[in-house]
Amino acid sequence: MIRLLSTDFDGTLVDHFATPPVAPALFEWFAELRRCGVFWALNTGRDLAFALDGLREFQFPLEPDYILTNERELFHRNPQGEWHDYGDWNRRCVQAHDRMFQTEAPFLEEILRFLREETEAQPIYENGRPVGFAAKDEAEMDRVVAHFHAARKPGSLFHYQRNTIYLRFCHASYSKGAALGELCRLTRISPQETFTAGDHHNDISMLDGRYARWACAPGNAVDAVKAAVRKAGGYVAEARCSDGVLEALRHFFQAERLAPPGWAGEEVESQEVES
Ligand SMILES: [Mg+2]
Repeated sequence: MIRLLSTDFDGTLVDHFATPPVAPALFEWFAELRRCGVFWALNTGRDLAFALDGLREFQFPLEPDYILTNERELFHRNPQGEWHDYGDWNRRCVQAHDRMFQTEAPFLEEILRFLREETEAQPIYENGRPVGFAAKDEAEMDRVVAHFHAARKPGSLFHYQRNTIYLRFCHASYSKGAALGELCRLTRISPQETFTAGDHHNDISMLDGRYARWACAPGNAVDAVKAAVRKAGGYVAEARCSDGVLEALRHFFQAERLAPPGWAGEEVESQEVES
C-alpha cells in the first residue's frame, strides 16, 4: 500500500514541450490519493519560492504536503498554510555545507579554474559563494564531470547534483534521496510505502531503491535514470512526464495492488495472483 509520493517537478510532472504541460488526469489521481490519506512531497531542484511559482504557473489545483528543495532541503506547512523547515534537517544541512566549502576550498578552486580556462560554463553564485555552474551544453557538462571525478581526492565529501546543463555543488550526504529518507523518518512512513518519480541525474538518489520501493522513470528520462530504476525493480514508462507517472501508478496499482484503502478513483483492476 502506498502512503507517500515523492516526485520531481520539471520533466517529470511538467512537460515544458506539451500542451497541456500536465495531464489533467494526474491532478485527479493526486486529489483522490490525498483523499485516501496519501501524502505528496514535491522533490525538486528548485528553491521554495521557485517551486511555489511553478505550481502556480502550471495551475496545480492542489499544493504538496511537503516540498524538498534545492535537492536537499525539507519544508512542511504549518496549520496556517505557511511553509517552514521540517525538523532540524535544514539547519544541519547548512552547517554541513558551510564546513564542506571551508575544508574543500582548494578543490573548489581547481574546479573553478577548470571552468574558467577550459570551458564556456558560467559559475553561479549565491551570497558570494560559488554554488554551481551552467554548462554550454550536455557535452561540456560531461567533460566537467569527468574532470571533477579525476581531480577529487578519494573520500572527499564534495559532491554535486547534475540536472541538464546545470550542476549544483553539494555535500555527499545531502541529496533528494537523503532528504526523502529524513522525511520518511519524521513521518514514520517506510520506503515500502513510498512511490517516487524522476527524470534526470539529480533524481537517481531517490530512485535507486534505498529510500523508496516503488520507483518510476517517465519515457523522457535520461538513460542513467532508466537504468537505475530498472536495477531497483521499478517501472520505466513509455509515456512522457505526467503521462508516464500515471502509467507507472496504473502499473503498480494493477501488478502490486498499491492502491490505498478507500481508493475510488480511476478503476484499476488488480492482477490475480496465483496461489
Ligand atoms: Mg527533472
